[in-house]
Amino acid sequence: MLKVAVIEGDGVGPEVVRAAESLLERYIDVELVKVAAGKSYFMRSGRPIEEGGLDRIRECDALLKGPVATPKRDPSYPSVNSLIRRSFGLFANVRPFKSYEGISLRKIDTVIIRENLECLYYGWEVDDEERAIAMRVITRRGAERISDFAFRFAKREGRRRVTAVHKSNILRKTDGLFLDSFYKTATRFDLMADDEIVDAAGYKIVKLDNAFDVMVMPNLYGDILSDVAAGVVGSIGLCGSAQIGEEFAAFEPIHGTAEDIAGKGIANPIGTLIAASMMLDWLAERGKVGEGKGGRIREAIDSLLREGTCLTSDLGGSCGTEEVTEEVLRRI
Ligand code: ATP
Repeated sequence: MLKVAVIEGDGVGPEVVRAAESLLERYIDVELVKVAAGKSYFMRSGRPIEEGGLDRIRECDALLKGPVATPKRDPSYPSVNSLIRRSFGLFANVRPFKSYEGISLRKIDTVIIRENLECLYYGWEVDDEERAIAMRVITRRGAERISDFAFRFAKREGRRRVTAVHKSNILRKTDGLFLDSFYKTATRFDLMADDEIVDAAGYKIVKLDNAFDVMVMPNLYGDILSDVAAGVVGSIGLCGSAQIGEEFAAFEPIHGTAEDIAGKGIANPIGTLIAASMMLDWLAERGKVGEGKGGRIREAIDSLLREGTCLTSDLGGSCGTEEVTEEVLRRI
């Protein structure tokens, strides 16, 4: 039987992950393996993740994850997110943004592919009384690997254009290397390849319909532009993501712990359900579940949002997390 590891996470994490769990339990033959991790677990146990937790995840076919809090200024707390990314070599963060009529600000059908291990997220910082310095690392291997991933992804998904996002006019060496690696990789594919400066990319996502197709970029730009794109979609609660490595992948909503609405039963579960659908796509590519299951979840979500009768409060509705989940399940 398929085994999926589950980290509930913090804040609204347990509520939205519960939604995806009930979907998976009712939709496929699966054993869900709970692994305790995150800030709330750290407060209780002094550990970011339960003992042997990474090994238990490794024994599973994939990981479903809720958002995990990283305290803003507590150096004693290691980030669970980066622990998981590094332990499983999850170098590609894939974030689809698709508009829904009547909900989104404008038309968008863009996939942001974010390099997931480098850039400013190495966490190398030094400071003294007067200065604080962060180290930004782009490697040729990392830039070529994420570019190759983006082109392969575009080809598989029948997309035509891949845009590299950068700031190489200022960051000549780091983003220059990223851009060179991107164009070198592009020569191996018969797809359109172009590039855009990061600030202009943000502007165009907001200002134009369908400004981009597949976008590939260093870590920090991906982090920021994802939230911009989610705003255009209509709510950060509608967007899911996959973190993919050579052997393993983790799936989660793109939003954070949303402490302001945690425990109220009103968080939008759709981003996590989309993440679950992406997990089924990834497992289907490996022959571990049947084809088309992920697509059926997304169709059910499309139909629910088109009708607009059962929406959570971030979309102006009054339905709770459970009602929306039940409604998606009913449509599947
Ligand atoms: P973090 O530091 O963990 O990223 P954050 O507060 O900066 O947390 P989010 O948790 O993503 O960022 O929250 C941003 C805003 O979006 C908040 O107002 C939150 O209530 C809202 N939000 C996030 N996720 C959802 C969701 N699933 N449903 C409804 N609203 C959400």
